[in-house]
Amino acid sequence: MNYDLILKEIHKEIQPLYNEGKVASYIPALKNINPKQFAMSIQLFDGTSFHIGNYNQQFSIQSISKVFTFTLALHLYGKDLYKNVGHEPSGDPFNSLVQLEYENGIPRNPFINAGALVTTDLLINKYKDETFEKVLAFIQEISNNKDIVYDKEVASSEEQTGYMNFALLNMMKSYKNISNDIKEVAQTYFKHCSISMSTNELSRAMLFLANHGTDPLSKKEFITQSQAKRINSLMLTCGHYDASGDFAFKVGLPGKSGVGGGIVAIIPNLMAISVYSPQLNKNGNSLIGTKALELFTTKTGLSIF
Ligand code: GLU
Repeated sequence: MNYDLILKEIHKEIQPLYNEGKVASYIPALKNINPKQFAMSIQLFDGTSFHIGNYNQQFSIQSISKVFTFTLALHLYGKDLYKNVGHEPSGDPFNSLVQLEYENGIPRNPFINAGALVTTDLLINKYKDETFEKVLAFIQEISNNKDIVYDKEVASSEEQTGYMNFALLNMMKSYKNISNDIKEVAQTYFKHCSISMSTNELSRAMLFLANHGTDPLSKKEFITQSQAKRINSLMLTCGHYDASGDFAFKVGLPGKSGVGGGIVAIIPNLMAISVYSPQLNKNGNSLIGTKALELFTTKTGLSIF
């Protein structure tokens, strides 16, 4: 497969879409980002990688971090995790309060904000005030890169304007599904959402999920095969909020988006992919990123179906 050529074709075909979509503006620190950016990286199991655009440009990974916190929480709690957070698609926006009230403070899945706040709270139960450092160390380990850090300005901007996240936390606390101090959970969550990575780094970080939980390069087993199956299944059914069905329909791969404009996806037994373009569609997913992945699976025939 000539991946270099395919990436070049994709880059050309997405050009007319630069006038569509909007950069996330509800987080003030993200709203002045140059909207017309694009990068895409492919990481294969033998260490070979292919890229196009500014693939070393770091951006805010936002909700992509929820894949990593869910992985850590599943590793620590196993099936007990599902007492506090479900595994069904929500069909609602990422920060919706409505369903949470109907369902007594148990979030539908770990990839909507409420679910990720619960997994962060559970991590704090185990790691106490070292929680963020543990999350960051885990991301550095799966990426084989000690230089990954978070952006303090983005984290504090989220904290100052995170009214919906505080509302979710308060509601879940009243249903006794949050044990720790709300401010501590929020700050830890905002920090991991504010981690900055490039498509090059993200595609490397996701490789273990394409290989049943074991990094094919370092041979380290981060989670069991069965747990990797659960994480990938949830990325397929819940990775793009209320547009998860649309993403599965168009792209046909497990993937997770973030409002920073990044998307990660995996092709089991073959590769991890990451794409970045900060203009979002109405569901808060990268518009060009989704199109680029759709073009990729169409051109290569490499969807899971
Ligand atoms: N930190 C963002 C928030 O809580 C994450 C949302 C996203 O990336 O979808 O609003």
